[in-house]
Amino acid sequence: MRIVCNLARGTKRKLPFWKDVSVKSEQNYYEATRNNSKRFSKLHEDVRTDICVIGAGFTGLGTALELAARGYSVVVLEASLVGSGASGKSGGQVASGYSPGMMATSEIVGRDDAKRLWEFSEDAKRILNNRIADHEIDCDYLQGELYAAPKKSHINWLKDEQAFVEKEYGYEQYRWIDLDQMRDMLAGERYIGGLLDMEGGHLHPLNYTLGLANAAANVGVQIFENSAAISYVLRSGRVEVICDKGRVSADSLVLAGNAYLQGVEPSLQRRMVPVKSSIITTEPLGTERAASLMKTTACVADTYEDLDYFKMTPDTRLVYGGQDFSFGKVSRQKNPVRTNMLKTFPMLKDVTIDYLWSGNLSVTRHRLPDAGRIGSNVYYAHGYSGQGVPLSAVLSKILAEAISGEMERLDVFGRLPHKSVPKSRFVQLPLVYSMMLWSKLKDLL
Ligand SMILES: Cc1cc2nc3c(=O)[nH]c(=O)nc-3n(C[C@H](O)[C@H](O)[C@H](O)COP(=O)(O)OP(=O)(O)OC[C@H]3O[C@@H](n4cnc5c(N)ncnc54)[C@H](O)[C@@H]3O)c2cc1C
Repeated sequence: MRIVCNLARGTKRKLPFWKDVSVKSEQNYYEATRNNSKRFSKLHEDVRTDICVIGAGFTGLGTALELAARGYSVVVLEASLVGSGASGKSGGQVASGYSPGMMATSEIVGRDDAKRLWEFSEDAKRILNNRIADHEIDCDYLQGELYAAPKKSHINWLKDEQAFVEKEYGYEQYRWIDLDQMRDMLAGERYIGGLLDMEGGHLHPLNYTLGLANAAANVGVQIFENSAAISYVLRSGRVEVICDKGRVSADSLVLAGNAYLQGVEPSLQRRMVPVKSSIITTEPLGTERAASLMKTTACVADTYEDLDYFKMTPDTRLVYGGQDFSFGKVSRQKNPVRTNMLKTFPMLKDVTIDYLWSGNLSVTRHRLPDAGRIGSNVYYAHGYSGQGVPLSAVLSKILAEAISGEMERLDVFGRLPHKSVPKSRFVQLPLVYSMMLWSKLKDLL
C-alpha cells in the first residue's frame, strides 16, 4: 500500500500528540467484532528474562513468538492493551512488495538489495499465512488485493510495475484488470483499470493480533498490559526496562512500539513520522447491495499517493479508509473519509456510518521499513509505511534471527539509505505538508 504523510500534531505531555481527541468516543468495528476479551495483568514486580519486547502489536508479538520457538524466555510490555496501536486499527490489507513500488525501491536501494527486499516480502506473506494456519487464528483471511487506477498515467505505472516484478523476480501473481472487468468488479466510475494481486489479501487485524497474543502466551511468553516502559538503562551488559510498578531485566531488548513509541528511544524519532489514517465502517448493506458494489472478495487500494483503501466484511459492511487531513471535530457522518467513499460509491449517500476511528502508522522518508540494532543488544523495527500487516511478519522473524546471532538479513536494512526527519513534530509538519502537496500536484498533473 502506498501511503503519504498526514500531519502530526504538536506535543503535550499529558495528552500525547497521537491521541485523536476528535474521534476517541467512536468505536472501532474491529473492537466490536473481536474474538475474545482476554486481558493480561499489569507488571507489578521486578522480573528477569532473556528478552524484553516493548509493544504488543504485530511486530512485538510476532518477535516474541519467534523467540519463544527458539527457546528464549520473553516478556512483552504493552502500554495499553494488546492491539491498541496500529495493529488493531489497521485496514488489514496484505500487499506484495513495498510502499513505493518495486521499480522505485530498486532505484533507491540498488538492484541487488531490491531483490533481497522482494524476497523478504514474499517470505512475509508465507509467514503470515503459516501463523494463521499453525495457530488456527480466526481472522477472516481472504486472498486478493486489487490496485485500482483512476487515470491513464496510473495505469501505465501499474503495467510497468507488473512487467518489472515479472522480469526481475519472476512474480506471476498479478492479473491485469481492464476497464470492462473493472466496471464488472466495482460499482461507480472512479477507476478505469487495475492490477489484481492474487497473493495479496486481507484480514481482521485485531483478531489476528489477539491470535498472535494467545499463541505467544501458550508457548510461555509473559505479556503485561497497561505496563508502559518509561525508559531503559544498560547495566553490566544487560538491559533494565523501567515501568511504574516494576522493572524487567533482560539480555536484549526489542523496541516494537512503532509510531507510538515516544521518548523511550529518542534516536528512533528521527527515523520516521507518525501519520494519521482514518477508517469508517458502514451499517450492514445486505447481501444484494454489497454484491452490487463489489463483485470481488479482494480488498481494494487505489493508486493515489494519499490512497483510499476498502473492503467488504463478512457481515456486508463496507470498511473504507484513507488519509485524514482534517483539523478539528469530525463525526461519523461528516468526515473526509466519507467524502472520499462517496467519490468511489456515490450511491451510498443514504447509508449510515456505524464506526469511525483513526490510528497512526509510521512512515519513513523513502517509505521503506527501518530496522536495526542500537549498541549490542537493543533491536528495533518500524516504519513499514502502510505495509506493516505482511512486513511485520518477516521483520519479526529477522529480529529473532539477529538476536540469535544471525545478522545477515537484518544487515540489509542497515544498508538502506534512510534519510532522517526533523526531530521536532512542529518542524515535521511543513515537511509532511510539502510531501503531501507534491503528491497531490503529481496526481493532478
Ligand atoms: C488506520 C490504519 C490503517 C492501516 N492499514 C494498513 C493496511 O491495510 N495494510 C498494512 O499492511 N498496514 C496498514 N497499516 C499499518 C499497520 O497497521 C502497521 O504497520 C502495523 O500495525 C505496525 O505494527 P507494530 O506492531 O509495529 O506497531 P503497533 O501496532 O502500532 O504496536 C505498537 C505497540 O507498542 C505499544 N507501545 C508504544 N510505546 C510503548 C511503551 N513505551 N511501552 C509499552 N508499550 C508501548 C503501543 O501501545 C502499541 O500497542 C495501517 C495503519 C493504520 C493506523
